[in-house]
Amino acid sequence: MSKNAKKFQKRQAGKHNQRCSVTPDKVRYRDLEQAKDALFHFKRNAKEQKAATGSTTYNQKRPYECSACKGYHTTSQELGRVKNEVVREKELTIADLILSA
Ligand SMILES: [Zn+2]
Repeated sequence: MSKNAKKFQKRQAGKHNQRCSVTPDKVRYRDLEQAKDALFHFKRNAKEQKAATGSTTYNQKRPYECSACKGYHTTSQELGRVKNEVVREKELTIADLILSA
């Protein structure tokens, strides 16, 4: 492995292992794609566990963007019930402003 490749790998690992200050017990994902990927695996595990035991402890429903660590986590809570969730507001257009006037 080249010197540059090693350097790159170390940096990636460090960033990935970074913990969130408000929810340190939660796994932190660098981007939405990683969070979605994890959720996909959760759901598959849930299906397998439910088939095997009749119930499941995997209850994660959706990924969300965290305002505290600028990363992503998964949650079992509905939209608007998660602390530190970044909710992207739809930008108002001129048409919306005229309609609300
Ligand atoms: Zn966070």
